[in-house]
Amino acid sequence: MQPPPPPHPDKAFRSHAPGYWRDRAIAPEQWNDHLWQLKNRISTLAQLEEHLELAPEERNGVILSGTKLAMAITPHFFNLIERDNPDCPIRRQVIPRVEETLENVHELADPCGEDAHMPVPGLVHRYPDRVLFLVTDRCASYCRYCTRSRVVSGAGEQELETDFEATYRYLEEHTEVRDVLLSGGDPLLFSDAKLERILSRLRAMEHIEFLRIGSRVPLFLPQRITPALCEMLRKYHPLFISVHANHPRELTTEVREALGRLADAGVPLGNQSVLLRGVNDDLDTMRALVHKLLMCRVRPYYLYQMDLIRGSSHLRAPVAKGIEIIQGLRGHTTGYSVPQFVIDAPGGGGKVPVNPDYVLQRNDERVLIRNYEGEIFEYPEPGAKSAPSPEPAAYL
Ligand SMILES: *Cc1c(COP(=O)(O)O)cnc(C)c1O
Ligand code: SF4
Repeated sequence: MQPPPPPHPDKAFRSHAPGYWRDRAIAPEQWNDHLWQLKNRISTLAQLEEHLELAPEERNGVILSGTKLAMAITPHFFNLIERDNPDCPIRRQVIPRVEETLENVHELADPCGEDAHMPVPGLVHRYPDRVLFLVTDRCASYCRYCTRSRVVSGAGEQELETDFEATYRYLEEHTEVRDVLLSGGDPLLFSDAKLERILSRLRAMEHIEFLRIGSRVPLFLPQRITPALCEMLRKYHPLFISVHANHPRELTTEVREALGRLADAGVPLGNQSVLLRGVNDDLDTMRALVHKLLMCRVRPYYLYQMDLIRGSSHLRAPVAKGIEIIQGLRGHTTGYSVPQFVIDAPGGGGKVPVNPDYVLQRNDERVLIRNYEGEIFEYPEPGAKSAPSPEPAAYL
């Protein structure tokens, strides 16, 4: 038995409600109001430089971001940045860098081939029984590695032209669809009333069994998770929400409370992380993240290998790193906390699970497996003729 590793510095829950914002006191009523948070987002170079000393790579990145993926950072999320740490993992996620303008031959505008699987603008129907419904192109803050940066934020060349009525007609006709995932952009930026119109239209279709929303709002803008929103959502069960947290510091006391309100409304919560170089590409950080997620009643769902988005190579970690992290979690800690590592196959193949190799050999007689500590075991298949070997490693 190995001793447990020391706790990660960001494993504790802290409040990030401010004493000040732009050097003036902010009333808690303002800070806690999601509309104030949205109105006061950092979206210009001047606003950013009021708060932070930027590296030249960041300064140029901000200037150039206007033609690709806009910059916007909620005050809540901005306050998580360590001002004097140029490598702060929060900073790398939301502050543009000039490396975003570097593109390599492997990168694609539409890395998961979504546009080719859209029977109706804004609706991706790739898998037989479920669809991805892109309801908006806006987010509370913009992630620099966004897989949909081609359409998100309104700054790039391509626009998201979701056709709601045509989507409803398509779904009414396609009774094989039993699962609708609302995403974008971020659906939780809609008003309660607008979101409810969508949910009720979908719920009215009998073949749609399962609804889910993908949102980073609980992390970027926990103030938006109001009791009224939760009361509305609970009418549309079964409804799941997948949130998107990448680093343990994102899980503040305010975020934990927001997630708790959703869980109390009966919404099962999952988390989708992206493996990001310099943010969460190490086992200690990922372990702290998944443990904190469980404490927030969120089940880690997927860990994504980063898609081949244009201008993202500075944030991409190798697949081997993801496998190493999963291997370091599986068996070593709570099974509920281990996400499935996936690669969304470039060009449109969908999500493919990528796992450490635990099956060492398999034939009609036996399966040789190894456990999390590297010990080798033999599992005889039904009808195996020979008795299990006392030394299974000898088969290898
Ligand atoms: C991820 C995704 C889904 C949902 O996949 P699950 O594995 O069921 O979570 C559905 N459609 C598209 C196009 C997706 O990218
Ligand atoms: S919240 Fe999601 S959709 Fe929005 S910028 Fe981030 S990754 Fe993209």
